[in-house]
Amino acid sequence: MSDELTTLAQDASPASTGAFPRRTFAIISHPDAGKTTLTEKLLLFGGAIREAGMVKARRERRNTRSDWMAIERQRGISVTSSVMTFTWHDVVFNLLDTPGHQDFSEDTYRTLTAVDAAVMVIDAARGIEAQTLKLFEVCRLRDIPIITFVNKIDREGQDPFSLLDEIANTLALDVCPLVWPVGMGGLFRGCWDIRANRPIGRVAPDGEPAEPVTIPDDQMADLRDAVELAGAYPAFDREAFLAGHLTPVVFGTALKDYGVLELLSLLAEHAPPPTTQRAEPHPVRAEQKSVTGFVFKVQANMDPNHRDRIAFTRICSGRFQRGMKLLHVRTGKPMAIQAPIFFFAQDRSLAEEAFPGDIIGIPNHGSLRVGDTLTEGETLRFTGIPSFAPEILRRVVLTDPMKAKQLRRALEDLAEEGVAQVFRPMLGADWIVGVVGALQLDVLQARIDAEYKIPIRFEPAPYVTARWISSPDPKRLKDFIEANQSTLGHDRDDSPVFLARDTFSLRFTAERWPEITFATTHQSA
Ligand code: GDP
Repeated sequence: MSDELTTLAQDASPASTGAFPRRTFAIISHPDAGKTTLTEKLLLFGGAIREAGMVKARRERRNTRSDWMAIERQRGISVTSSVMTFTWHDVVFNLLDTPGHQDFSEDTYRTLTAVDAAVMVIDAARGIEAQTLKLFEVCRLRDIPIITFVNKIDREGQDPFSLLDEIANTLALDVCPLVWPVGMGGLFRGCWDIRANRPIGRVAPDGEPAEPVTIPDDQMADLRDAVELAGAYPAFDREAFLAGHLTPVVFGTALKDYGVLELLSLLAEHAPPPTTQRAEPHPVRAEQKSVTGFVFKVQANMDPNHRDRIAFTRICSGRFQRGMKLLHVRTGKPMAIQAPIFFFAQDRSLAEEAFPGDIIGIPNHGSLRVGDTLTEGETLRFTGIPSFAPEILRRVVLTDPMKAKQLRRALEDLAEEGVAQVFRPMLGADWIVGVVGALQLDVLQARIDAEYKIPIRFEPAPYVTARWISSPDPKRLKDFIEANQSTLGHDRDDSPVFLARDTFSLRFTAERWPEITFATTHQSA
């Protein structure tokens, strides 16, 4: 990695902008809605890249680095998430990328635990799609404020009112249109700023002057009517937005440079600064003086010859400085953070300093896990970084029985990274792996093969899903475990899980044992 560890010009680095506000956000969307295009335009406004096409090019370059990435290349998708930092009008934006494919993994969910806001991109012709809905639900769990960008209005799309009603009804969210389309498809002329009551022309990120909008008289009359009708939607209310109850909506086209600047201004002006994070024994405010952070993602280095990993860590409070000794709360051991990394659109650099809302990458050899807390000495623990009940379970079959020990290590390593979950049934010697998306299985198999040289195959497991079990009554829990050994197992933290053979038996068992909680999410200890 060291050969590509470039120290960037100071002015591009958050290290020199410590006093600047942070906006840490993600873009959620269904594949093809225009996330990559929008990301690129935002980065161009921030001067983080110089020409369009670089985000894709970078993905391709990154993909050539290791074998298992071949899966990404083959399918033309991005399995891994990353971080892109850019500065605009003295605001530092940390954009956390979430994989856009349907077969997404827990990674996607967890990335959303590290953001303070999200931009939801919707294709004007397609409306809310499956993946958008799933990701939205994760945002709702944490009441993350969402700005909606209805993209591709330069093409024929659905009527703006039906799109707004669809968003409001499907997501049970108040919608507040701020930027309205002036025609769509063949009649597309530009956008209209509802609050300022004026047209918005094309604003290219390269600094070219905005182009004036000409609206023919008949279209102007229609627009006036539409804008008047749009007045029936709730007015923008920042409190409701921050609480996750209302979404401001910008109609635009990322490809043609309409509405992108308005979106960026909205993020800068109204998206929340680094928010208070849930933790035990007390929540952590960004203003707290001492440094705290949590790991939301672990990624093996792109180089398969080295087993080192990067732990993506969100700084939640304090002023982090390179070389600091932080307490790794789970193990109780101090860790000197000597070579933390910042991520940019195209490069990485050493992170000399980081502030709340920033994401640093901490190289390590497997000691840091998803969900781990780092502090300056306090023994607190960030919560709300859950595991999700897997929807697909498989039995791992080892074709070389001599490699049982290595398999255990491989599965434990990869489970730590969140590639898959592993379960050990209480009876029998099989390993069961669980994933939320089928693609994770391909990644798991490819990586076990490439990185650990263990030939395995997956066979159907006799289970359909898993639930973490607990009870306020330890005696009842013990009784339950004794009575149900054949459908119980342990996860990698030794927490007991109910491995359901079918949905009926899950319901039936839950009804018979009302004192036992069957949880679909779990926070590791
Ligand atoms: P992603 O899968 O969400 O990252 O989507 P992309 O950004 O790769 O866009 C998918 C396709 O839609 C590409 O062919 C883009 O050029 C196209 N696209 C993106 N934004 C717009 C837009 O505003 N208007 C039009 N007409 N096409 C767009």
